[in-house]
Amino acid sequence: MKNIARRKFMHLSAAAVAGLVVVPSREAKSQDMPMLAESDPVAQSLKYTHDANAVDPASRANPAAEQNCSNCALIQGDEGATWRPCQIFPGKLVNNNGWCAVWAPKA
Ligand code: SF4
Repeated sequence: MKNIARRKFMHLSAAAVAGLVVVPSREAKSQDMPMLAESDPVAQSLKYTHDANAVDPASRANPAAEQNCSNCALIQGDEGATWRPCQIFPGKLVNNNGWCAVWAPKA
């Protein structure tokens, strides 16, 4: 019985150490990401802009008011950061005040 508990402890410890190794590298990776350029072909196809105020609300498919990246369900990273990862543009950072046609409200 002691061997089983010890084995389980060792597995959990190994998993915990692996988690500690992965988390810092993810954060460092996010900081090293380039900013998404408005000229990026995918950004253009989704009408991405760094400034949500530049978008005519009437042109949006989703009429919800006050849409920007900071209140989009797909934004990631730290709340206070100006440039943050987005699930739609992997490997790039979007502006917190930006917008694209995929905008979705946070739940
Ligand atoms: Fe911004 Fe959301 Fe579009 Fe990402 S999906 S660029 S967070 S509006």
